[in-house]
Amino acid sequence: MEKILNDDFVTMTIGKLKSIALIAHDGKKAELISWCEENREILKKHKLCGTGTTARMITEKTGLTVKGYNSGPLGGDQQIGAKIVEGRIDMIIFFSDPLTAQPHDPDVKALLRIAQVYDIPIANNKSSADFMINSKFMNEEYEHEVVNFTKIIKDRSETL
Ligand code: PGA
Repeated sequence: MEKILNDDFVTMTIGKLKSIALIAHDGKKAELISWCEENREILKKHKLCGTGTTARMITEKTGLTVKGYNSGPLGGDQQIGAKIVEGRIDMIIFFSDPLTAQPHDPDVKALLRIAQVYDIPIANNKSSADFMINSKFMNEEYEHEVVNFTKIIKDRSETL
């Protein structure tokens, strides 16, 4: 109890079985689907979810089970961000399109930011995704330091 009230960071464990969010902007959907196909044997050992259209297309084209949230422009990125805050998503593969303006750019930024806050690994192109999925940490538990929001709330409520 003392620790949770005083330490700036808490140690969290990403389990052996990972909860992985898959997202691709329209111009990158085909690339993500073929990446999922290439990495099917690894991906099928984990729990997959994604924004609505991406999730459905991956399921239809690869047979992998991917739980779908809402479509990205309709709040799907925000739903995934909220799951990060709840500690229910361990990593993100997000093939964003750097050459096309997105109507939900603020949501995309918010997702990147919250992943950073909670020290969640996030790959935004194929090579990063390749490095990530072939990391030794995919097969073991991984401990990381995550901001202690209990302490932050306590400090803020006492000082503001
Ligand atoms: P979609 O959303 O999977 O529903 O297309 C992805 C996005 O554009 O953020």
